[in-house]
Amino acid sequence: MNNVSRLQTALAEQNVPAILVSDITNVQWLTGFTGSSGFVLLTPAAGRFITDSRYTIQAGEEVKSLAVASYASPVKFTEFLSSNVTEMGIDQLAFEKTITYGTWDDWRKGVPTVEWIPAPEVIKPLRMVKTADEVEKIRKACELADACLGHVQRMLQPGVSEYDISLEIEFFFRRNGAEVGFAPIVASGPNSARPHARPSERKLESGDFVTLDIGAQLNGYNSDITRTFVIGKASDRHREVYDQVLKSQIASIEALRPGKTGVEVDGVARTILDEKQLAQYFGHGLGHGLGKAVHDLGSLSTRSEDTIAPGQVWTIEPGVYIEGFGGVRIEDDVHVTTSGPEVLTHFPKELIELN
Ligand code: ZN
Ligand code: ZN
Repeated sequence: MNNVSRLQTALAEQNVPAILVSDITNVQWLTGFTGSSGFVLLTPAAGRFITDSRYTIQAGEEVKSLAVASYASPVKFTEFLSSNVTEMGIDQLAFEKTITYGTWDDWRKGVPTVEWIPAPEVIKPLRMVKTADEVEKIRKACELADACLGHVQRMLQPGVSEYDISLEIEFFFRRNGAEVGFAPIVASGPNSARPHARPSERKLESGDFVTLDIGAQLNGYNSDITRTFVIGKASDRHREVYDQVLKSQIASIEALRPGKTGVEVDGVARTILDEKQLAQYFGHGLGHGLGKAVHDLGSLSTRSEDTIAPGQVWTIEPGVYIEGFGGVRIEDDVHVTTSGPEVLTHFPKELIELN
């Protein structure tokens, strides 16, 4: 069953008469469209892909599961939408809650013939469970991220700047036909205590922790991997912190099984970090869904409302960040299956000392 049919079934089950899907990631997931502007107008029995003249040809090639309806200037989107909802006999239309207030105001004034209702959470549970084809695409993106770490590892030596390393990462992905999934994080020494540090002109020094958090977007799907290295010889404290983060990461991957809650899996990491009084330095969630978006739907955290199910893909990324000392984060991408967790990223994760 394609994603359009899956959503139509969900609309029928939840008594949603019609929905206007506007979130572009949702639109791309539904239809295979790769352009940046398009909408799906869908009822349990019918549907249309709506776009403007910039994308008519592209949509005709890419969107197989719906008829394409496109408009051109001087027609406005709301005028075109109006005529489409009338033709389809829609009188109640659900909108996604991610639109801005300005958009909603524009739509309800421009299309006053329908009653606009906020959509229930129909797409998220579908999008969280990946098809085999989606998992394959994520796997390929993971392979590229692994290869990129191998490629830049040789640059990790005293005197090389964070900025130069981040450029090489971007260059590697682009040269291999991928996009950069997000701006690479290269955080060395004291900067590694900042979970989302931006690469700076700081040059690596002996005795630094260096954290690389990188991801490729390949064929519309993402990878997201983090490794932390030591420049020169690791101190006892380096080892103690690193080994505990690694232990918590391995145990939480092991816990990522169908039926577990996001809160439970997150708790596994926290409990292990606490054996060495390190949980206080772990300020973010354990992981997030991964797919068409880097921070895809779903979270593993103290406040997660998600339950683990086969077909989901999650990041597992515990971290410890100690101001003035440095930080360690280790992140892998994991596919949930009925027979256990399948780790999609394979770069080695025992402590690597680079001399
Ligand atoms: Zn990451
Ligand atoms: Zn991540």
